[in-house]
Amino acid sequence: MQFQVKSLPHRHLVSYDRSRLGLATTLSTGLCPLESVLFHGTRPGWIELIAGVMFSGKSEELVRRVRRAVIAKKRVQVFKSHLDARYAGLYTVSTHDGGLVDAEPVDSSEAVLRALRPDTEVVAVDEVQFLDDGIVAAANGLADRGVRVVLAGIDMDFRGLPFGPMPTLLAIAEIVDKLQAICVVCGGPASRNQRLVDGKPALWESPTIMVGGRESYEARCRHCHRVPRADEDQTALL
Ligand code: ADP
Ligand code: ZN
Repeated sequence: MQFQVKSLPHRHLVSYDRSRLGLATTLSTGLCPLESVLFHGTRPGWIELIAGVMFSGKSEELVRRVRRAVIAKKRVQVFKSHLDARYAGLYTVSTHDGGLVDAEPVDSSEAVLRALRPDTEVVAVDEVQFLDDGIVAAANGLADRGVRVVLAGIDMDFRGLPFGPMPTLLAIAEIVDKLQAICVVCGGPASRNQRLVDGKPALWESPTIMVGGRESYEARCRHCHRVPRADEDQTALL
């Protein structure tokens, strides 16, 4: 189906409000606005970045885009950081809601490039914040040669600081979707990852990536997010 975005009737354009209606909102064409714009009348090859806090629906959105690309008979490869083995394990991208697609675990940007098949048209990478900075050049190189690159990653670490390659990816991606979760404390929109150790806010000084630790995470808004420093009185912050 061919159509020009510019020629869409006004009512279609005003009905698109991602922040209120959610990303899966579709135009009357059945395509989401992003896909409508990109799949019609442009050369292939670009970077889409789905960024945000844990529980914000990044994996759901990545899985949704992958499924649609498969339906469109594109040759798709899905990767995810080997550091994420939550729920269904290492060989799937799984969501907090139980949705999943098969994925190849990778420990570096090099590994993505090594595993890539020459005829792949769509590359999706989940948990991209865990990969090294080489993912920036890798994603650019793939997009330059016509591959649709779909990346999903946590934009801030538990302290609220930019996470790994995410700031640069946010800058170079053609399309950025920043998702929010629901703050478990106040019910507002959540943008921050609250790390808890034994139910208490983790200290600022703790490592950015904890593997196999006793920690848990909650989605929280800026105002409910707590990251005490070692020299602060933690009980005052609870
Ligand atoms: P992400 O990849 O961003 O961590 P997922 O796509 O895996 O997120 O999961 C999103 C789903 O998590 C939501 O659709 C919802 O069912 C569930 N969920 C659990 N806790 C929350 C929360 N605090 N805010 C929003 N969604 C939540
Ligand atoms: Zn809050």
